Amino acid sequence: MKVYLDNGATTMVDPEVVKTITPLFTENYGNASSLHQYGSDAKDTLDEAREVIASKINASPEEIIFTSGGSESNNTAISGYLKQYPGKKHIITSIIEHPSVLGLFRELKMSEGYDVTYIGVDKEGIIKMDELKKAVRKDTALISIMHANNEIGTIQPIEEIGKLCKEKGIIFHSDCVQSFTKVPIDVKKLNIDFASFSAHKVHGPKGVGALYVKKGIKFKKLIHGGHHEFNKRAGTENIPGIVGFAKAVELATPKHIVEMKKLRDKLINGLLSIKDTQLNGSKEKRLCNNVNISFNYIEGEGLLLHLDMEGIAVSTGSACSSQSLKPSHVLMALGLSAEVAHGSIRFTLSRFTTDDEIDYTIEKMKSIVKLLRGMSPLAK
Ligand SMILES: *Cc1c(COP(=O)(O)O)cnc(C)c1O
Repeated sequence: MKVYLDNGATTMVDPEVVKTITPLFTENYGNASSLHQYGSDAKDTLDEAREVIASKINASPEEIIFTSGGSESNNTAISGYLKQYPGKKHIITSIIEHPSVLGLFRELKMSEGYDVTYIGVDKEGIIKMDELKKAVRKDTALISIMHANNEIGTIQPIEEIGKLCKEKGIIFHSDCVQSFTKVPIDVKKLNIDFASFSAHKVHGPKGVGALYVKKGIKFKKLIHGGHHEFNKRAGTENIPGIVGFAKAVELATPKHIVEMKKLRDKLINGLLSIKDTQLNGSKEKRLCNNVNISFNYIEGEGLLLHLDMEGIAVSTGSACSSQSLKPSHVLMALGLSAEVAHGSIRFTLSRFTTDDEIDYTIEKMKSIVKLLRGMSPLAK
């Protein structure tokens, strides 16, 4: 049996998406800037896709800019905004952000002289709102807090954060890559100024994303060239990618959320029936597809490799940090010891995950944990 439970890293492109975009490679392959029929057809499909993404988050099409993915969207929003308004030198983020945000903040501090405040999280991975409120200053330019965390699936109180930002006149950016299509997003209700999205986390193609920019907010573009994307992001639009992104978003329904939640809870309960285990993150404020569990006395890498031999794909921490041997910055932020953090596995489901796959995974996990603990000096 082959079971893919690493949908937090990337997802299968929905076959319906593949069918929709295939003609865009060989038949309707025009450049949206060209003046002939091929070009205007491409422009029309691009406009339709923009409309789909915009309406999903209650934005206008002119507020959506297509990018190469979540990382570029994050960098464009934060860097672009700060370059446009260089006066204020204080910026705020959390200690559990994606590396594409944390890496940029480190750079802004080291090279651009920004003063950075990192907000901590509680045991469940929820932002400490009192800490955030106290961190706000007169010269705070921007707050960047993710909607849902990629490792532990915790959903942040971004409506409250948006309200605070609005009151204080601070720009609010939120990395919504993991929450998109899984948690309803209304950028107006949430008071978001910038929001980042990525196609390949929602059964769309890799290398395409979107950035929501609230009407009236200016930023300096990162990529210079032609007048694409309202003159805000140069480069010939990746039409098949963008159309595939929109199609994937159209195919995501609330019913999928309910189904994933059911399987998620079955997996959580099955794995917690193994002794000396604990769920990381929040039970209630959690993405419908995320399970992150620590298995005491054993190493996550060992678990991952044994699961891989049984055809089950999972991850330790996130794909972005799996090359390093340092324990996950997210799990450490929850207050876990380095040992427990090292014994943690992230299982991320999708709308294609089946009940049989969850049963198979629970059964294999039970035997692998038993096997590895039998060999572990710590377990005795
Ligand atoms: C995957 C991910 C990103 C990066 O998106 P790419 O499209 O791979 O660049 C950013 N933030 C979060 C929370 C993610 O999970």
